Amino acid sequence: MLLNTYPLAASRDMVFRSKETTMQSSVSVMVYSLSGLDRLNEENVAAAMAVVEETGLSRILVTDEAGRVLYDTRETGGAVGSYVFFSEIVQALMGYDASSCIYQNGAFRSRASSPVLYQNRIIGAVYAYEYDTEQAALLEGLQSNLLKLSAMIGVVVLALSLILSVALTKKIGRLLTAIRQVREGAYSHRADIGGHDEIAQIGEEFNSLTDRLQTTENARRRFVSDASHELKTPLAAIRLLSDSILQTEDIDPSTTREFVMDIGQEAERLSRITEDLLRLTRLDSGVLDAPTEVDVLPVLEQVMRMMGLVAQEKGVEMTYDAAEGCVVQATRDEIHQVIYNLVDNAVKYSAGGAVQVSLGIEGGQVALAVADNGPGIPEADLPRIFERFYRVDKARSRAAGGTGLGLSIVSDTVRRRGGTVEAVNRPQGGIVFTVCWPLAEGSVTV
Ligand code: ADP
Repeated sequence: MLLNTYPLAASRDMVFRSKETTMQSSVSVMVYSLSGLDRLNEENVAAAMAVVEETGLSRILVTDEAGRVLYDTRETGGAVGSYVFFSEIVQALMGYDASSCIYQNGAFRSRASSPVLYQNRIIGAVYAYEYDTEQAALLEGLQSNLLKLSAMIGVVVLALSLILSVALTKKIGRLLTAIRQVREGAYSHRADIGGHDEIAQIGEEFNSLTDRLQTTENARRRFVSDASHELKTPLAAIRLLSDSILQTEDIDPSTTREFVMDIGQEAERLSRITEDLLRLTRLDSGVLDAPTEVDVLPVLEQVMRMMGLVAQEKGVEMTYDAAEGCVVQATRDEIHQVIYNLVDNAVKYSAGGAVQVSLGIEGGQVALAVADNGPGIPEADLPRIFERFYRVDKARSRAAGGTGLGLSIVSDTVRRRGGTVEAVNRPQGGIVFTVCWPLAEGSVTV
């Protein structure tokens, strides 16, 4: 639209303006050649006009002051002798210059007129008319060229937008399919979108989101199956033992007592597992008790006192060395749980050995290390020991009353408070677990 209308209107305007000025100046030349005459009549006008150069105008009229034509360049059907009252002539006879130009039926029609004066008296008028098809043809050529050009541009723009929209909708379609597939549970499905544009970036973000979703979903499934397996084992034992008591006739009281004790142990294991599971679920839900400043030393001392008897029974020698001022932002219960689980494991897995616990401040952090000289953990298993239900030696762990959840609880509890935990095998045998918590602000560094 712009290409077609604006340039055309602008060039037409330009032609109009130039036509009006040239017409006006041609008329002025003729008026000049008539100046000096005190009256106009056919003879003196014809004589004066004879010296005017060929102007290329279609028609020139000269009238007297009453509007009667004295001179007409039209060879056939000239208006000499008759009165003409073209609006331009009327205007000129009233003393005004007049000019107009219109474009009509493929031609520029320009008109101009001026009064002829003698001593400030109007003695006649000069009127010129031009019919120009040449410039009009040029303008029409321009118009048709512009039309072709805009048609071409229109086709190109249409084709390009079609290609672009097809490409875009294709990509969005692929993304939508991927989203729907994943929504239906196909977590392994990935959006395959090439290129580097924003949609491709959304696709990549979606894929990494799906990766995480798949990892979480796998972990959840594994956790549910592990948990049901862990719960099934003691339940099956309880059923077997109770069936044996019921179905064995004349069972002697000592055997019954033994079986009931076993049932009690299995029930205890069940309650330990459910307790640990509940603790992990609470950690997962992210609802934490408000932290307070907890001094780790008294908690450590309490755990050492608690574990003293168990260690003695297992022939484990327990020692600890601790610095004061180890204050962290957590709850007392959390700190107790962490230290208890680590020391319990160390005593459990290093029967007849030694367990050393140390507590201090290192690099602005509270560091707790629990070392033993037991069998340690094979390097291949180390990265997985903080996973839920992961055990290096299942039979041994069960026999020792483990649930396989202790280290997960330690790692989750510590991480929730901005800390870290790591396990490293000692060169002399055994393993050392190191927990680091950020030192509570405002506590004195010793
Ligand atoms: P569990 O209840 O079985 O002890 P944990 O999560 O506390 O579960 O520990 C996971 C596994 O890591 C244990 O089954 C055991 O194989 C291994 N482990 C943990 N602590 C020690 C340790 N001090 N020495 C050797 N192995 C250990």
